Amino acid sequence: MIELQIWFREGAELFYLRIALLTVLVILMSGCGEDYYRDGLRGGVKSQYIDPAFDQYLKIWERYLGRKVNISIYFSADSNNAGVCRVWDDGHREIQINPNEWGRYYNDRFYRENILFHEMGHCLLGLRHQDEMFQYAGSRVPASIMYSKVNHFYGTTRKILLERLFGKNIIKDRFYQAELRFLLTKSQFLPANYPRLSE
Ligand SMILES: [Zn+2]
Repeated sequence: MIELQIWFREGAELFYLRIALLTVLVILMSGCGEDYYRDGLRGGVKSQYIDPAFDQYLKIWERYLGRKVNISIYFSADSNNAGVCRVWDDGHREIQINPNEWGRYYNDRFYRENILFHEMGHCLLGLRHQDEMFQYAGSRVPASIMYSKVNHFYGTTRKILLERLFGKNIIKDRFYQAELRFLLTKSQFLPANYPRLSE
């Protein structure tokens, strides 16, 4: 309420305050955090650790990327964000996934993939947020996996977003059907118009 009152008050002197409040609001609404730490004390590349919970998703990513990746992915509730990408001075990259957020979507593997792939976009491809939208099946939907908020259309537009990200026709991937089967096993929030599996 306080923010809204200030927002509508007249006066140029409040300009910077408005910007600051808007920034805070945007950060609060964002599902993701980017932390680029500067920490010269940490020498050497730390050993790779990947929590088994992320194995299946990582396999999908590596297949489309065409190579293995060197990264750590583990659960941490340090941040309120669904996921955080950290890039250290020594080049080590790690992704922290919030266990509460991951648990909340226990029945939606598409959403889990979305969180993870978004953070991997930051950490492994160096991508920043991209909030462009496009028209799909009568709705305005996020055009990138790097959309800064929760993408409720991810299940429907996954194929398009991954093809944009990796520059490949993913349907031609010989693992595509097995991958869909894995994701569809837990897909509570999947829209009804998702392409059916071909048997
Ligand atoms: Zn992000």
